[in-house]
Amino acid sequence: MKLREIGEFGFIDRIKGGCFIREKNVIKAIGDDCCVFRTTSDLVTILTTDMLVEDVHFLRGAIAPLKLGRKSLAVNISDIAAMGGIPREAVISIAIPPDLDVEYLDALYDGMKEIAGEFEVNLLGGDTTSAPKHLVINVALVGEGKEEELLYRSGARAGDIIFLTGYVGSSAAGLDILLKKREVDCWTELLEAHFNPVPHVRAGRIISSSGMANSMIDVSDGVASDLGHICIESGVGAVLEESKIPVTKTFEKYVARFGLDFEYLSLHVGEDYVLLGTARESAADTLGRALAKEGCHFFVIGRIVEGQGIKLVGRDGKARAMDTRGFDHFRKERDGEG
Ligand code: ADP
Ligand code: MG
Repeated sequence: MKLREIGEFGFIDRIKGGCFIREKNVIKAIGDDCCVFRTTSDLVTILTTDMLVEDVHFLRGAIAPLKLGRKSLAVNISDIAAMGGIPREAVISIAIPPDLDVEYLDALYDGMKEIAGEFEVNLLGGDTTSAPKHLVINVALVGEGKEEELLYRSGARAGDIIFLTGYVGSSAAGLDILLKKREVDCWTELLEAHFNPVPHVRAGRIISSSGMANSMIDVSDGVASDLGHICIESGVGAVLEESKIPVTKTFEKYVARFGLDFEYLSLHVGEDYVLLGTARESAADTLGRALAKEGCHFFVIGRIVEGQGIKLVGRDGKARAMDTRGFDHFRKERDGEG
């Protein structure tokens, strides 16, 4: 069915079922000029927004609409996780090219509702417009947290350990498979990491409420670039150890099979949506145990040092300066082939 058969308001009516997941605190959901909800009085409100543009962030023919719906909310949930907050209420603005079928949009919203349910996020409103050619999805997400627990990019101190809450590089490898048009069947794990990232809200909460971490960010543009943000905001430098970068066996196999650049794919591409942070050294064991108890990973990959810039100590024991530029929308992309 084409959108013109049901129109903008038919569309809103069609998707609004299942958007409202957690009734507590909500006074007005979809259907008025604004949504209205109560925030918890002793918590601070966190607000983030992220936009996904066809042919910039995704290829419509490559990603299933359900996964695209999940990912458009996941990247926002991940930003809240990176502060150590709890995601709560979302609004979705969507610009739709006329050739899109209503069934495609149903699946897109099914994906958003699916992940919204998993993280108890309400979809409370949005905006719908037509677009000449490309599908654009923008999500704004409100979260909350205790002011004294939230973690910023600016708190890292010399001597801190640097940690990751999950594997990196798999999403980059998934993207590489798509761009190089390789056989997809052998690499479903990597494609899944690219299409269906899972935000690390629980890990973020454990870390922030422990009071032991000093800074945190989510890995969207790559460890190098995102750690670069922490270093600049905190006025420190960092030393990473290549042998400690957590990657999956499948990632290793993929890199070896096609002779790719390990450093580029694991540290410079991103979209892993794991958390990257720093904590004082004495906290490493306690934090690691607390996360393991909840089924979360905690990998120590290096150390914050005085000065500036990031060095990567290779498997040969030699340190080299690392380029901290990740993906930048307005700069020329680098070639990943090693
Ligand atoms: P207004 O003209 O006041 O902007 P709209 O007609 O755009 O209102 O929207 C009607 C209702 O539907 C509002 O509650 C709005 O938040 C909601 N809505 C519109 N588009 C979407 C969307 N893409 N996803 C979720 N809710 C939407
Ligand atoms: Mg509107």
